[in-house]
Amino acid sequence: MNLNCTFCKVIDNTIPVHKIHEDDTTLSFLDINPLALGHALVIPKVHKTLIHELAPEEISTLFKTTSYLTKKIHIITGTHATTIAINNGADSGQEVPHIHIHIIPRSRGDGGTPIHSLMPVRPKTNHEELKELASKILNS
Ligand SMILES: [Zn+2]
Repeated sequence: MNLNCTFCKVIDNTIPVHKIHEDDTTLSFLDINPLALGHALVIPKVHKTLIHELAPEEISTLFKTTSYLTKKIHIITGTHATTIAINNGADSGQEVPHIHIHIIPRSRGDGGTPIHSLMPVRPKTNHEELKELASKILNS
């Protein structure tokens, strides 16, 4: 619990939200500034900023909740697709430093774009460079 954290205050019921799920380790609520109707956030109840700061079992329950809610959101909103995303750290656009998974219902012709459109400028690379990078990550 971090008393300066907006989402810790949500967990503590100090800040009201439109809750859609709560269990011992996760909480989910509708985004107050939704990108689509049904846009939800799923958060762990433990205060961590980056996904790899969570213990493996905490990651597991976070994604189990995300999967469970995605199915429900599809049914309730009548959609068949979602963009599921995490802004992992301030440099990626994370506005609240408490891990949160976005579930954004998507439909054909909604005007949204795929996740590859996030980056207007992409690095020029080649298979040799990608092979070397993959090897570094694989063997680290
Ligand atoms: Zn927090």
